[in-house]
Amino acid sequence: MSRSEELFAQAQHSIPGGVNSPVRAFNGVGGSPIFIERADGAYMYDADGTRYIDYVGSWGPMILGHNHPAIRNATLKAVERGLSFGTPTEIEITMAEKIKAMVPSIEKVRMVNSGTEATMTAIRLARGYTGRDKILKFEGCYHGHADALLVKAGSGALTLGVPNSPGIPEDFAKHTLTVTFNDLDSVRDIFAQFGDQIATIIVEPVAGNMNCIPPAAGFLEGLRSICDDYGSVLIFDEVMTGFRVARGGAQEHYGVTPDLTTLGKVIGGGMPVGAFGGKREIMDFIAPVGPVYQAGTLSGNPVAMAAGLAALTELADPELYRNLTAKVTKLVDGMQQLADTAGIPFTTNRAGSMFGFFFTGASEVTSYQQATQCNMEHFKAFYHSMLRQGVYLAPSAFEAGFMSAAHSDADIDATLAAAEQAFSELKA
Ligand code: PLP
Repeated sequence: MSRSEELFAQAQHSIPGGVNSPVRAFNGVGGSPIFIERADGAYMYDADGTRYIDYVGSWGPMILGHNHPAIRNATLKAVERGLSFGTPTEIEITMAEKIKAMVPSIEKVRMVNSGTEATMTAIRLARGYTGRDKILKFEGCYHGHADALLVKAGSGALTLGVPNSPGIPEDFAKHTLTVTFNDLDSVRDIFAQFGDQIATIIVEPVAGNMNCIPPAAGFLEGLRSICDDYGSVLIFDEVMTGFRVARGGAQEHYGVTPDLTTLGKVIGGGMPVGAFGGKREIMDFIAPVGPVYQAGTLSGNPVAMAAGLAALTELADPELYRNLTAKVTKLVDGMQQLADTAGIPFTTNRAGSMFGFFFTGASEVTSYQQATQCNMEHFKAFYHSMLRQGVYLAPSAFEAGFMSAAHSDADIDATLAAAEQAFSELKA
């Protein structure tokens, strides 16, 4: 038994499922999760001392690689000054100004502690601002685990909310309308029916929780104009894409401006941080200036702000995003070529430093439905072969992969060599 297996067995006795967030349990790929002891640059080291090239990056935050010296030093310095004060601090102003400079649609911003808090509050704010109850989300988009957002679609383009977790009363979920990502007609149809009751459309501008599915040409622009027509608030959930797809997030990359933006992951440099921000007129509806309530004991925590600010500051390097995109291109094009040579049906998607790969005969994957129809057995076998060879991918076919600035050409070459072996095992 490996040390990771021993720890997982022990963890089951005191932690539900042995993990503090479900996807970590490897249910999506089978087998036992690896327990990580430390990480540095592009690598993570498990409890058995095995090194992995990591393409999960703590589920997105680690765009600069693990244990980045600038983030580590800023965090340690902040720790020396005290862990939390519960008062305003100057670094919160610096952080807000930095976010505004990087994401120009954000005129005011409020810091919170997670992506879930950010989206939950942005929804409340949009409802308070418009005086409307209904919200529109897309099947397969994940916006954290707040009740109103944990709603799945049934079949068909127009589905009234059905909660997809026990513990969410149907009454809470019934205001959540769910339609098809990349299908503007489904959005237009539901607006034709409920438009004057819809407070907001919330969307991942690049869907990263059903693998990686970029927006079709015109999709985000279409959402913008529908929101304008009906007086609804457009929320881009950039918890994953913010500071990742481009310095200014997906809104910069695709040139579409939302009313509100939610942020998380990269913004904390690895510490628990989220934020929501946007138009001044809407943000001034939040307490204490406005009537919509939101608060947080540890919001804007000085240690978390120091880590996040150091991360965002490092992103100023003009070469960074170009290099990340080049590395993703090398990785996914290389994988495609190897799969083609091996005769394995396979395709890939990418957006900036996010990527996804699919075991499917389709030439491209643009929808949730297609993503869920991929060959799961191929994915699982490929996953475990890569893991055995020291490459750590997300343990689920419905998660995006992330490149970091710390990945070297040699790391990508090693990853491709492992993929060649994994494809050949699939063929056998
Ligand atoms: N929104 C998106 C797009 C996400 O990917 C996630 C988490 O993966 C969240 C919201 C929730 O963020 P958190 O896990 O920090 O609560």
